[in-house]
Amino acid sequence: MDDLSISLPCGFSAKYKDIFYNCDEFPCPVCKTHALKSKECLTITKNRLVLIEKSFELKKNHYDHLLKEFEKYKNEPKIYLDESFDCFKRKVDHRREEIKVMLNEKIDEYHDGLLAKIETKKCAKLKELEEKIKQIEALDLVNLSSVTNILNDLIEPNFKLANSSHNISKLFGQLNLKEDEIDDDSCTEKTIELVENDNFDLYSKKYIVQNFEWSINTRKKRNNSEMNGETYIDLNLYCYPLGNTKEFSVKVDALFSLSNKSNSMKDLSRNFKQLFTQKSPAWGFKFTTMNKIMNPKNGFYDANDDSITLKAAIKVELP
Ligand SMILES: [Zn+2]
Repeated sequence: MDDLSISLPCGFSAKYKDIFYNCDEFPCPVCKTHALKSKECLTITKNRLVLIEKSFELKKNHYDHLLKEFEKYKNEPKIYLDESFDCFKRKVDHRREEIKVMLNEKIDEYHDGLLAKIETKKCAKLKELEEKIKQIEALDLVNLSSVTNILNDLIEPNFKLANSSHNISKLFGQLNLKEDEIDDDSCTEKTIELVENDNFDLYSKKYIVQNFEWSINTRKKRNNSEMNGETYIDLNLYCYPLGNTKEFSVKVDALFSLSNKSNSMKDLSRNFKQLFTQKSPAWGFKFTTMNKIMNPKNGFYDANDDSITLKAAIKVELP
């Protein structure tokens, strides 16, 4: 696609990549005597035909590729099914190990915190007791009930651990087969959803729109001067072409949003337009700070299931 010859309004011709990777007006890459927009080139009939022909060729290649794949699978369905399900089982095994490590760390952290709390309580208690003993000595009067109180305070402290519960499926992630979703490569719009809890470093499921797979991801980052040194999250949109397409260019109009749990009018939303190509298949930005996300006033964080919901509504346009 990149090297496709496109006719220019000035009569010269240029490569596809030099024209359609520009979003706004740009100087003519050949004669440099005028400015143009990629849209102007689309009004030239010859270009339209060339693009239709090329996109037909790409679709046909994709179809041929699928047909070849199908031939392969057709003869040995069990082998391929075993392979893909074994791979999935390995992922589940791997997830188990990850969670064990994560839980162990959290348990240790929590344990250390509890010990520190107990130590603080002990110091406070000791001070209090010393105070009481002093008072009794000062009065020089043996008050039986005060002494019993002090003796009671010296036996095992009155702490207990409250019961806790763990939701294993939430920790592990639920089984969500891709087949559950209807893949429709002819649609041009879709909303990608990502529910996050705990680590803020996740990828959403992949959604198919116009022969591409799309997903969003967040990353938690710290210490950025633009965000006043606060911890913030990056939100990114990724584009993966299907089949063996090596070159692509696709325009995307996207609306990133962080859902307000009770009123969608109060979602935090940011819009962007971007051209995705094989050279730049991802786009995103610093979305917002953790303080804003967690602030109960903003209504983004759901304390009941310890989660937030991010969405990317994307509109995909092939040139
Ligand atoms: Zn020109």
